[in-house]
Amino acid sequence: MPNNPFDEEKLASSMVYKMLLESTLAIPWCIDWDTKTFSYIGPQIEKLLGWKQNSWKTVEDWATRMHEDDREYVVNFCVSQSMAGIDHEADYRALKEDGSYTWIRDVVHVVRKANGDVDCLVGFMFDISERKKQEEQLQKMQRQLEEYSYKDGLTGIANRRLFDDIYQREWLNAIRVQKPLSLILMDLDYFKQYNDCNGHVIGDACLRQIARSLESCGSRPRDLVARYGGEEFIWILPETNEASAALMAQKIMDTVKMARLPHKASAVSDLVTLSIGVKTIIPTERDNRMQFLDEVDKNLYQAKKQGRNRYIAA
Ligand code: GH3
Ligand code: MG
Ligand code: MG
Repeated sequence: MPNNPFDEEKLASSMVYKMLLESTLAIPWCIDWDTKTFSYIGPQIEKLLGWKQNSWKTVEDWATRMHEDDREYVVNFCVSQSMAGIDHEADYRALKEDGSYTWIRDVVHVVRKANGDVDCLVGFMFDISERKKQEEQLQKMQRQLEEYSYKDGLTGIANRRLFDDIYQREWLNAIRVQKPLSLILMDLDYFKQYNDCNGHVIGDACLRQIARSLESCGSRPRDLVARYGGEEFIWILPETNEASAALMAQKIMDTVKMARLPHKASAVSDLVTLSIGVKTIIPTERDNRMQFLDEVDKNLYQAKKQGRNRYIAA
């Protein structure tokens, strides 16, 4: 008897299939393509999302029970893949009846009619919230690690490593666009004496305070201040000419002065001061960025030699 719906054997095997399908963690479903309605969805859906099994009627129910940030992309993707007859999968946040969301992976198989038209979609929904949580945790840790490796531990501003990376990038960019690049190298005056006089803990606090003051001097998004060494800091100022760099150096001196950090052991002031080397270049392929840095350092040395608490921009 071909195709007898009461065939005992068939009935028994379909019962087995039904039992298997409804006892797995994955949630099976079937959508009729012509009517865009659910012809089946596993009862496990209620336990996962809270919505009753019989409330899943049309694809609209599926689309509306999805996070609005995921909806457009996921629906468009699934419709286009289905129309092209391609099996696919999509991750999205499904809306639960209690208003919260859970991450779902929908794995979809496209069943076609003999003439090639889409007949129905069958698929499984997997609860991937745990995996997503782990992924997010991992991403957070990676971001933190990246942040730590580019951040100076004491002051929280960029460290030497980030300076090196950005300096190389801005140097190459300045060669390409032929615009001036300025560096400002700063060194605290008599800081050894400051430590000797106040102790290392106060010395550290002073370095933090200086970093805050320096940060407040920056105004353009690509300007970067970094801790260059112990009590040395450096500004990278892209697309900044000599005149603007000198103005910035003066602003730095004024800002540090305004912070009014007492320095009893300084020979040049009763406040913490710094000496500054400034230099500007429009680099070409023939220039060497390490040599340029050396020239900035020479200006700083000149500022020290000429009495400290000043900047030299030559
Ligand atoms: P000059 O005016 O010639 O620059 O004199 P200076 O004493 O500042 O120069 P020197 O380079 O001889 O000394 C720098 C001092 O900075 C030495 C060190 O004790 C101090 N220093 C470097 N790093 C740190 C730090 O992380 N914390 C503290 N508290 N002090 C530091
Ligand atoms: Mg120094
Ligand atoms: Mg110093």
